[in-house]
Amino acid sequence: MERCTYDVVVVGGGPAGCMAARYAAKAGVSTLLLEEHGTIGEPVHCAGLLSTRALAESELQHPERCVSREIKGAVVYSPAHQLLLESQTQRAFAVRRDLFDQELAKAAVKTGVELMLRCKVKTVRTGDAGCVLMVATESPHVTQKITARVVVGADGVRSTVARSVGLRATQRCLSCTQIEGDYEAESDYAEIFVGNGVAPGFFAWAIPLGNRQRARIGLCIDRRCSSQASPLAFLKRNLAEHHVLAQKFGGEIVHRSAGAIPLPMNGCMSGKTAHVTHGSGVLLVGDAAAQIKPITGGGVYYGLRCGKLAGEQAAQACLTGDMLVLHEYERRWRRELKREIAFGLMVHRLRCAMNDTDYDTLIRTISKSELLERIQAKGDMDYPSLALRGLIRNPQLLPLMVRSLVKYLYTR
Ligand SMILES: Cc1cc2nc3c(=O)[nH]c(=O)nc-3n(C[C@H](O)[C@H](O)[C@H](O)COP(=O)(O)OP(=O)(O)OC[C@H]3O[C@@H](n4cnc5c(N)ncnc54)[C@H](O)[C@@H]3O)c2cc1C
Repeated sequence: MERCTYDVVVVGGGPAGCMAARYAAKAGVSTLLLEEHGTIGEPVHCAGLLSTRALAESELQHPERCVSREIKGAVVYSPAHQLLLESQTQRAFAVRRDLFDQELAKAAVKTGVELMLRCKVKTVRTGDAGCVLMVATESPHVTQKITARVVVGADGVRSTVARSVGLRATQRCLSCTQIEGDYEAESDYAEIFVGNGVAPGFFAWAIPLGNRQRARIGLCIDRRCSSQASPLAFLKRNLAEHHVLAQKFGGEIVHRSAGAIPLPMNGCMSGKTAHVTHGSGVLLVGDAAAQIKPITGGGVYYGLRCGKLAGEQAAQACLTGDMLVLHEYERRWRRELKREIAFGLMVHRLRCAMNDTDYDTLIRTISKSELLERIQAKGDMDYPSLALRGLIRNPQLLPLMVRSLVKYLYTR
């Protein structure tokens, strides 16, 4: 690398970072994308379930090349009941995240982004003369200094950029684990498993892949309501004993991963994702900014959306020389997602207070009422509140909701 000064440096080559870099370069400013690993998209820590909308948001010419299977709906299992959900409005896809991220990075480079792999950002300092990044490179013991007017921290759930400049958007993380292996999947249907013995505070999943008898099987837990600190203990038990998972799991595991999902600060208002000085600025985007759906943990679509906003605002700050326009980033993404995230956090709180009987009541009630039709007609995996607001207010479920709320407030 010859040049060491850029208008915009984006840290992290995931979906949010690739999109932020692409949009900054598209606006005409010099842009560098730094990724700590040697290959974009690896290692994978994702179930790869994306909506049609998320694929469109990627603006890839051929997103279908990253798709391993179309998903038509979901079967939801509570301990004693099950429910088939078929969306009338939306399709979803099981995507290969390694290929997807690589295509996003290629598109960014095509737009003019300079990409550097095996570059781990150690610290970022901001000042009126710009941002200074200290970067560990491939050569052992060599630390390179890079300067930028704006840094975009797209470096995931344990963001070094956020820590360096004192930004915090995450209240705590859900712990996740996943395997890819042999599985007798419901053809074209994702399977979701809820219950405190299965995945306390969240859910477990099996996502069918390709044509073969293979699936991604995983789960997340919220440690606050879990008897065990590690999600692995639950995964092992599910694969050995769960009345559906154990029966369908074939025994062979080809890939294992662990990861974390950031929960946004309460109401998503108290967290901060922009740090601005007179001559420089830092923005956080994607998981680094906790821009995820608390109900499902999905973050790719929001990361792509907010990546565009971050790239645009970073470029505008450089082109006008007015770093104050970076504050507009925070306003813009919150305007789009605040309500959805706040609603998701409320649902997550209720879920944390539910027991297995509550889950059974919920699934049984939905399957026997007009609610099912409403969910199927209005269900939207990127904006789940559209269908779920009605659910929470439904008279048949009101006692359960009130009980869960009281339990949550009492046990908190
Ligand atoms: C088990 C699991 C399953 C999931 N399933 C889904 C799903 O089905 N659908 C969905 O939409 N979302 C899912 N998610 C969430 C999704 O994976 C994330 O929301 C998404 O990857 C966030 O994108 P990002 O670009 O913000 O961060 P990431 O994809 O995490 O990318 C961050 C990048 O930054 C790099 N990096 C980190 N630190 C540094 C540094 N110091 N210097 C340089 N580079 C650095 C990393 O190597 C990485 O490439 C899942 C998450 C987990 C854990």
